[in-house]
Amino acid sequence: MAFYEEPLGEIKEWPYPVNYEKENEVSTDVLILGGGIAGCHAAINAAKRGVKVAVVDKGPVIRSGSGGAGVDHWHGAIGNPCSKLTMDDMLEFFNAHKHNFTGEYGNGITFYILFKESYDTLLDVEKMGIKFRDEDDDFKGAEFRDDETKIMFAYDYENRHVIRVRQGAEIKVALYKELKRLGVKIYNRIMVTSLLNEDGEQGSRIVGATGLNTRTGEFYTFKAKASILSMASPKGIWVFSTELAGSTMSLDDPNCVGDGDAIAWNAGAQFAHMEGSMQSSGTFHYPPYGTGNAHNTWYACTIVDADGKEIPWVDRNGKELKTVSERYRPADGQKLFLFNPPPGVPREYAGPYLTPELPERVKKGEFKLPLYADLTGMPEHERRALFGLMVGNEGKTRIPIYETYTQAGFDPDKDMLQANIVPPDMLLRGPWWGGVGPRQWRETMFVSSGGVVFDWDLKTSLDGLFAAGNQLVNGGAHSAAATTGRYSGRKAAEYALKSDMPELDRNQIDQEKVRVYAPVNMENGISWKELQAGLCRIMQDYCGEYKSEETLKTGLRWLESIKESEGEMVYARNPHELARTLECFSRLTVSQMIIHASLARKASNSILGFNRLDYPDMDPPEWEKFITIQQNNGDVKAGELPFNYWLLPPYANTYEENYKKHSGI
Ligand SMILES: Cc1cc2nc3c(=O)[nH]c(=O)nc-3n(C[C@H](O)[C@H](O)[C@H](O)COP(=O)(O)OP(=O)(O)OC[C@H]3O[C@@H](n4cnc5c(N)ncnc54)[C@H](O)[C@@H]3O)c2cc1C
Repeated sequence: MAFYEEPLGEIKEWPYPVNYEKENEVSTDVLILGGGIAGCHAAINAAKRGVKVAVVDKGPVIRSGSGGAGVDHWHGAIGNPCSKLTMDDMLEFFNAHKHNFTGEYGNGITFYILFKESYDTLLDVEKMGIKFRDEDDDFKGAEFRDDETKIMFAYDYENRHVIRVRQGAEIKVALYKELKRLGVKIYNRIMVTSLLNEDGEQGSRIVGATGLNTRTGEFYTFKAKASILSMASPKGIWVFSTELAGSTMSLDDPNCVGDGDAIAWNAGAQFAHMEGSMQSSGTFHYPPYGTGNAHNTWYACTIVDADGKEIPWVDRNGKELKTVSERYRPADGQKLFLFNPPPGVPREYAGPYLTPELPERVKKGEFKLPLYADLTGMPEHERRALFGLMVGNEGKTRIPIYETYTQAGFDPDKDMLQANIVPPDMLLRGPWWGGVGPRQWRETMFVSSGGVVFDWDLKTSLDGLFAAGNQLVNGGAHSAAATTGRYSGRKAAEYALKSDMPELDRNQIDQEKVRVYAPVNMENGISWKELQAGLCRIMQDYCGEYKSEETLKTGLRWLESIKESEGEMVYARNPHELARTLECFSRLTVSQMIIHASLARKASNSILGFNRLDYPDMDPPEWEKFITIQQNNGDVKAGELPFNYWLLPPYANTYEENYKKHSGI
């Protein structure tokens, strides 16, 4: 019988029957690995094409993943009837700057799919029962609402391409019900631990996967004609501690640790942009969207100082904005803007923001700290849109922020919310948004982190393996996950319909079972938390904000050493601890990948937050490219891909042609 320990030391019986090693076999046409936003849309669209589909998720699909707790703003909906932006506008922006809307690197394929299918995907979700429009006329007369369609917009009231989702907090429940309706088989609380290659050969076709039930410890083998990898991007690589502030992975679902990257790497897939990272607030983070600010979900809230004096807003031309309405509109002569422009985004695309002189003016005594988000100073519709519609449907805000604050007596008609302040170098990302930790605390990029390289079919470099969502290199946010999920579901179904059911290699399965159960076969040892703390320290010390050949190589040596020593000593007392331990090994693999990619980029890069002390030249044009890494029997091969690989042979040289040929529509 396995046991777990309560924080106060009380020993309780493990509440589920434990059957380590017991095997369960599943066979399906299309296998979805990770049932988050991308995985659910993929499953739905594959099932609609008449194939048998199974979804495997570490959590419960009904709420799992970073989108499981909601979405309040739906990006890229230029197909909606009110949008003033066209695909040509978006491509002009992308061709000039290679950015997505967060100012990180974008990818031409996902960028095009997003803008092409975003609004249609939102309509799919509406058919599943999610009301995104203002059907009850709660916001009648608001300038962000279109009276005919009742669609409500966020950020840019002029161009109208980001849609507020009124019932966004329920989106995952609706997707789950649709999976059920379509007869998709759902395997909840199964952690996928490896991909299976044809004949057990690394680099050959993917024919299935293995999994561990995180409650019973039972083993799963999944056999499939086609698989879709959609486990999001790695988190908790540099900072992770359950003791300090719960999950330290800023916002994301703690189940998303990088297992998808680790298993695809072990199976021989090619990756790109793994070297990118950004500073992290780690354990200093405030509850997401739970303190006053003026950015992202709280955009463009009025901020006042301790005496109630309003902080001015300016546009990209430096013009001071007199009205709230102007904060939601492009500057004179500006076509489109990024609402939350981080450092590095050309000024030309910067949206309205709080005056960048604020820190200086605070120092001079012109404004007095602390600052407050003053919803009372907003027009009524804006006030209720920010607190109620946005905060309330945005991920992780319904219960911890909206309901808790409301029950505690917070009234946006009367009360202000204190805004925490962070150093001025984060000003353009939003001075009240996060809170920044020590400079060695880092995390993978916000939405466009490294990931698997893919083609116009959203197929990875491995036959039989497709990918979607944040698993992709430069994945994007919610609507990008939904649209790429939708697209990959069609492509994987098409592939499965042409393929025979493969055989699994018994030897590969047996080896994986030995690896998976090693920590429960130990009598005692160290816990996963110690192992994880050691891994984070290595990444902070040797792959932090400033890197060099020597620090990186030392980091690799330490990672190998910790794997061979502490990695062999780690033990788990129950299936929960076993899953957490296996996650440490995933993070270890991802850390190695990050260091290999960092060694290969011999130049600094501002968008990737990448500083090489031995190559301090920032953004030299010859390094404006993807650095790729791939592994074969332990040998790591670095390579490169041009930034527009998606328009070079074997692909056509226009987006339209490639989409027409590949999209399956
Ligand atoms: C608090 C918060 C608010 C957000 N708000 C917005 C917003 O308003 N608008 C917007 O555009 N974006 C928003 N985002 C971003 C958006 O939620 C993500 O971009 C989106 O969820 C990514 O989809 P995905 O399918 O790639 O990953 P996820 O939705 O995170 O799904 C990944 C899935 O993989 C599963 N998984 C992981 N490892 C394993 C394993 N080993 N085995 C089996 N399953 C596994 C996880 O359980 C999870 O279900 C928000 C994110 C957060 C965290």
